[in-house]
Amino acid sequence: RESARPRLVPVPRAERPDPLVLLDAEVTVPLVTGDTVGYANFDYAASAPCATAAADAINDLLPRYASVHRGAGLPSQLCTRRYEEARGSVARFLGCRPDDTVLFTRNTTDATNLLAHVLPADATVVVFDSEHHATLLPWRRAVRLPVPDSPGAAVRAVDAALRELHRDGPAGPVLVAVTGASNVTGELWPVGNIVTVAHRYGARVFVDAAQLAPHRPVDVAALDVDYVALSGHKLYAPFGAGVLAGRPDWLAAAGPYLAGGGATALVGDATNDVRWSAGAARHEAGSPNVLGAVALGAVCDALLAADRAALADRERRLTDRLRAGLAAIDGVVELSLFAPDSPRVGIAAFAVRGLDSDVLAAALSAEYGIGVRDGLFCAHPLTRRLLHDAGTDAPATAVRASIGLGTTEEQVDRLVAAVAELAANGP
Ligand code: PLP
Repeated sequence: RESARPRLVPVPRAERPDPLVLLDAEVTVPLVTGDTVGYANFDYAASAPCATAAADAINDLLPRYASVHRGAGLPSQLCTRRYEEARGSVARFLGCRPDDTVLFTRNTTDATNLLAHVLPADATVVVFDSEHHATLLPWRRAVRLPVPDSPGAAVRAVDAALRELHRDGPAGPVLVAVTGASNVTGELWPVGNIVTVAHRYGARVFVDAAQLAPHRPVDVAALDVDYVALSGHKLYAPFGAGVLAGRPDWLAAAGPYLAGGGATALVGDATNDVRWSAGAARHEAGSPNVLGAVALGAVCDALLAADRAALADRERRLTDRLRAGLAAIDGVVELSLFAPDSPRVGIAAFAVRGLDSDVLAAALSAEYGIGVRDGLFCAHPLTRRLLHDAGTDAPATAVRASIGLGTTEEQVDRLVAAVAELAANGP
């Protein structure tokens, strides 16, 4: 039996490339001048380049690519094993409790919609206006809290909202949905304190870790968070695989997110005579994104093996350099919700007075080979509020520069110098 198992020949450790080297390291782009320069990617917060670990995991599996969970052939057995191992990698990466359910989804948006689907019918969701639309919009019944101006105010607002919900006796099930790190400002949210307050009222907490997980360790068990979600394409894996992980009871009690094969334990001849699967399979109907999940699992393993404190320190230095450089430019306003020294991941949103952000972003690309994002970042209420606070001559949209594992000091200096030139002279 042992000899019938498909065997992989391991590459000796010394020959393996660093699994966290990114595949876009050598990408060059043409400028309007006709010159070609190395691409300076400042758009990690939208989608990060793929890591070597992800590409290796995919290339390794592609020749033995087969159906999961149902096939009897050896490639099917191998893919099933890899898919389920990836689930284990994600669980370790997120510090899940042993009985948490870890579901593969398409992305964070899919994860929040799945969570909305399994909420008890009488549940209320408490959510700040500052959330990304993926965490702001999916809920049937929501209490929306205004954008707070400090982490302490956020905790107090959750406390007040929960007290109000319980004013006339026990409220039904309540979920507080909050981001771990803002996709607009990069600022960290006081997740631990929000969990403490929420649990005092018997409420649960969902953390949108789409921006947090690529930058800082997430420890679901230590934080006592109830649910967490992330997107693989922001975590150095390809598009199409994300995660929802957390408490199993609501997931087990609800009908399947998608009806179909894989979610069924038994289907009878009569209409509606269906016994749905238990566990993760219940909400993963249809053939899953095996390669995406395996790639995501491989990046989780690589990040778990890395010195994440050193990576976070490096990122902090680059972020400080970027923010200090931008702050020194006449006409640049950084968009921050909390105090300027409030902890944050490598994201800086800013506007240049008198210069439209789409024009600025296009010029950074065409004239300098720098990729940023401009707009309202799928967090319209928050970004509009921050631009409003920045003053009447601020543009209607903002620019976001976000950094990640491949960012260098040279790239940061190039971005700062380019913004300074464009702010002074226009495109
Ligand atoms: N939540 C946050 C904080 C995000 O930054 C994003 C993506 O920008 C999402 C959710 C949604 O992620 P996805 O588009 O992968 O579903």
